[in-house]
Order: sequence, then structure tokens, then C-alpha cells
Amino acid sequence: MGVGEQGVSTSADRATEGERVAGGHGEVRKKAMRRAFSTQRPEDLGGGVWSVPVPIPGNPLGYTLVYAIESARGPVLVDAGWNHPDAWEALTGGLAAVGMDVAEVRGVVVTHFHPDHAGLAGQVRERSGAWIAMHEADTTVVRTFRAFADGPHSDAHSDMLRRAGADSDEVAALVSGRPEPPALPDREVRDGELIDLPGRRLRVIWTPGHSPGHICLHLEDADRVFTGDHVLPDITPHIGIYPYDRHDVDPLGDFMASLRRVMELGAIEALPAHEVRFPDVARRAAEILDHHEEKLQTLAELLAEAAKPLTIWEVAGRMTWNRPWEQLPPMLRGMAAGEAAAHLRTLEVRALVERTEGEPVRFGIHS
Ligand SMILES: [Zn+2]
Ligand SMILES: [Zn+2]
Repeated sequence: MGVGEQGVSTSADRATEGERVAGGHGEVRKKAMRRAFSTQRPEDLGGGVWSVPVPIPGNPLGYTLVYAIESARGPVLVDAGWNHPDAWEALTGGLAAVGMDVAEVRGVVVTHFHPDHAGLAGQVRERSGAWIAMHEADTTVVRTFRAFADGPHSDAHSDMLRRAGADSDEVAALVSGRPEPPALPDREVRDGELIDLPGRRLRVIWTPGHSPGHICLHLEDADRVFTGDHVLPDITPHIGIYPYDRHDVDPLGDFMASLRRVMELGAIEALPAHEVRFPDVARRAAEILDHHEEKLQTLAELLAEAAKPLTIWEVAGRMTWNRPWEQLPPMLRGMAAGEAAAHLRTLEVRALVERTEGEPVRFGIHS
């Protein structure tokens, strides 16, 4: 498992947001402003749904929106926020501000295992006896992280980076500094299941891509959808492959299929985990789909123009990021490489690109 799978939604979003923020300077500032935690307040969204912003300390993404859904037997939270004392204070204080005691929380459904979503779930459970629900595919990831937490996993990780063409400084920077894995859930959920929310209908839509077990949650009795990181209004979530040279998975292909699933919901309101809620989930999902199709097209052209097959690192270095490659710190380079690898893999699945095994592995246009 790579560093990219831990908590990277946040910094990864940062790596890609520049592409989406195509507007002028004022536009960029406006969007940055609305990601400041200080501008956010807990809010009654009507219909027994509240949003509580929880800060992600030191991260430009600003905050996670935790949602509380009222039920006949205590509120259920969608996501919990980053595991940090300031975040805990914002979560408990925010719930109190809307008249809820964290001790009454009945359950926490996490959209995916990333620390800005699942981080505080364990603490909520300790305080209230709530259950934690997570998709089975992300539960497997958490189990692996927990098993590796004390083990010699960094060797496998640095091997992966070397095979992808990273230099030794980058390898060193990337194998250090990992957040603690989140709590294991009490309940593993699957696609189509209803969440235990007495008197209401909250259905699981499995949307793999950003993580293998990412889920969106459709509140059917109010026709609103909690989109986690899958569909966000301005930025696109990080889609990467770890280890980079895996060829048994296709997360970008999965993500694009998951966008089509959300489009089937039609023009209903989206309640995302970051930024702001927005009215038409299908329209935004279609836009993100187009964005990745364009990116795949550009990448195929880049490989067709290259004189020889390229390493993942070389490909990442030639793609467009929100800053020039030379200025990206190692952590973001590692994530950019994961994203390049995911796009290469999708082109390979489409038989447009082929890989040459070796150290490092290389990719060229299909002959
Ligand atoms: Zn996130
Ligand atoms: Zn995420």
C-alpha cells in the first residue's frame, strides 16, 4: 500500500485543483476564501439534516463537512473529520450548536477511509457507543494499514517508488511521515444496502475510484446525495494507483464508471464533504468525466509524440499540474505520479498504451 492511499485526498486535491480553477485571479481568491474554516458555521439544511464544518489543520482544503442526519433514535453522522484536538472541539461544539450531544450519536457512516473523513470516527464511538460503518473494500485497506503500522512496510514502499523512477531523495521523503490508520468499523456495508437510520431511507451507492470502497449515500426520503470526495463542486478528487505499477486494478476506470452511476440520480442536490453543497450532482459528475477524458486524450498524444517509452515519473513530469513539476514538493510529486499511473493504466485497459516491464517500468503508445 502506498503513501498515496493514506490521507491524500486532501493534498491530492491540492495537486489537481489548479487544473480546475481556470478562472481569473479573483475567482481563485474567492474559491480559496470559501475553503477557509473561519468562514464556516454549522448549518441547518432543513429536513432533519445539519452540516458541521470540521477543520483539517494545516491543509489548504480547509475543512471537512460532517453531516448529521436526525433519526427516531439519535443522529447518524456522515463522516467525522480529521483526528486532531481542534477538529474534535469543532465537531462536538458544532453538534452542540445545533442542539445535539455527541454522546447521543447513534452511528457514523464514513464515505471512505481517508483521515479527513474517518479520523475522528473512533473517538465518536468511544464517547457515544455509536457504530461505525464503512464499505468492505475500504475496511480491507484499513485492516492492511493496521497490520503494517508496526511492520517493515517501508521497504516495499521504497521499492515501488524506485521501480517507478523516483530518485533517492524523493524516495526518502516519501517513506516518512504517515498518519495513524483510522478505527476499524463495526459494520461493513455493500452497494445497495440501507444504513441503519430508523424512520428514514439512506442507501449506499458504491463509488470506487478515489478509494476502493468509497461510497455515496442517497437520502431517498429527501432526494439528496452525500457525495464524500467523489463529486466536489470545484476540484476533482485524487485518483491514483499504489503501487504505481499494479496492473490488476483500474481505479480511474472505476472512478469514471462511478461518476456515471451518480449521474443516474439526475439533477438532485449534492452534499459534498468539502467546499460547498450544490444543486445538480449529475451535471457536475458529467463535467468531471469530461475532464478525465480530455486528460486521457492529452496523455495519449504525449506518449505518441515521445521518441521512446517513458517511465511513470517522466510521464508525470510532462503532465500539467497546478505548479511546475520542478516546484512540486516530493509528497505531491509522489501523488502526481500515482495519478499519472492511474491514467496510464486506463489507457492500457483501452489498449491504447502498452507497458514494458523492467526497472523502471515504461509506457509507450500501443504499436
Ligand atoms: Zn476528503
Ligand atoms: Zn479522500
